[in-house]
Amino acid sequence: MDQEQAFNARRHFIKLTGLTTAGILLSPSNTFSMNIGSDDAFKPAILGGAPIRSKPWPEWPIWNVETDEKLVVDNLRSGVWSRAALVKEFEEKWAKEIGTKRSLSVVNGTNALIVSLMQSNIGAGDEVIIPVYTFIATAAAVLATGAIPIFVDVDPETFQIDPKKIEAKITSKTKAIVPVHILGMPADMASIMKIAKKHQLLVIEDACQAHLAEINHQRVGSFGDAGCFSFQNSKNLAIGEGGAITSNNDALMDRCYSYHNYGNPYGAMVGNVSAGTLIPGNKLRWTEYQAAIGLVQLKRLQAQTDKRHENATYLRSKIMSIPGITPYRLYENVTKAAFHLFAFRYNKNEFKGLSRPDFVKAMKAEGIPVMEGYAPLNKMPYLANAFQSKNYRKMYTAKELDINVYNKRNECPVNDKLCNEEALWIFHSTLLTEKEDMNDIYNALEKVHANAEAIKKSIK
Ligand SMILES: *Cc1c(COP(=O)(O)O)cnc(C)c1O
Repeated sequence: MDQEQAFNARRHFIKLTGLTTAGILLSPSNTFSMNIGSDDAFKPAILGGAPIRSKPWPEWPIWNVETDEKLVVDNLRSGVWSRAALVKEFEEKWAKEIGTKRSLSVVNGTNALIVSLMQSNIGAGDEVIIPVYTFIATAAAVLATGAIPIFVDVDPETFQIDPKKIEAKITSKTKAIVPVHILGMPADMASIMKIAKKHQLLVIEDACQAHLAEINHQRVGSFGDAGCFSFQNSKNLAIGEGGAITSNNDALMDRCYSYHNYGNPYGAMVGNVSAGTLIPGNKLRWTEYQAAIGLVQLKRLQAQTDKRHENATYLRSKIMSIPGITPYRLYENVTKAAFHLFAFRYNKNEFKGLSRPDFVKAMKAEGIPVMEGYAPLNKMPYLANAFQSKNYRKMYTAKELDINVYNKRNECPVNDKLCNEEALWIFHSTLLTEKEDMNDIYNALEKVHANAEAIKKSIK
């Protein structure tokens, strides 16, 4: 960086970050202040300057030996390891949290989706509408039932399924919509439920990233016919592996219970006792020590969710002003988002053409971990491979499995742009900090923006 560039970057940086008050300048915890006398602080870290942040971000998952281990260790010592009282207790508490009559634990979120779809009679010959901007498990679950996933393009402002584009994808074969509350932000359930009602479609919510998110104070996972959650290690409630189905429909939940337990009778699924196993089942039960970990994590979920919401809202309001950075938008009636990921869009034209991968490198060098997120889900080999499988060729005609026709019908140009050029994420545990820590993210964005030209030049 030459003298003039350095001067401009410094002036711009001070102006934008407001780091001109003595209190901030003298704060020993601020890396920036310690280097205020040198050009080091204004020089991007990727070019050898001092990073905005050298302090680590909170690790995930959280485990506190003093408060968390007793329940788990007591269970281990009891020898009662297969499904029993702790699993039941977790299910009762989870149903209460979500506001549904019932909850059933299953091995993971993927199987929560598969089981609730299957036991709602979704299968061969059916089409299921899903958002294209989601994790692979949503599409994989539809294919596991023998149905065909139909992709709906994304609303780039909210990152959610675009409700205006759903009806165009409905045919006589459509049986269900699986809205995903992706990144932990609620989908537009009012519009989706209206469409589902009009076309008599089942709604299975994929709430695997949206623990305790709310629309008008009602929790997601309680709007549709069933809700599906994941407790995989990265999720907002982390057990390692685990999933849950939530619903108010007793008949559906009895079928799901039976299926997850070899197909044995349960609830209204009594059958003729002497006749034995009722339906072709599976084995998807939890262990007791898994439930013990879940019960421990559940205790802090509400406080963590509130904290994420608070910090995300603050960070959003700060970064709005940076040219080329457009944070997520929530739908108006959202009263809480889970912010599994803090999302914003990047416009490289406002960053002197600095590519998104290079922007990510520059931010990481400043001590701010950002990710580019999903690749387009409608353009991966698993779809053609499913269509070429023995089962699919038995269930569908060659015409129905014409991958070129399918691909054309499932084009999602807005999503292509979002995935390939624009989307950026910050992981949720980063939000489990204080307001001051959010300023580090804002300051790093400002610094990279102010120095975009120099970064671009030096990288290539
Ligand atoms: C994690 C996730 C799943 C699957 O959950 P697993 O427990 O990993 O099987 C499904 N859908 C979405 C949107 C997810 O993020």
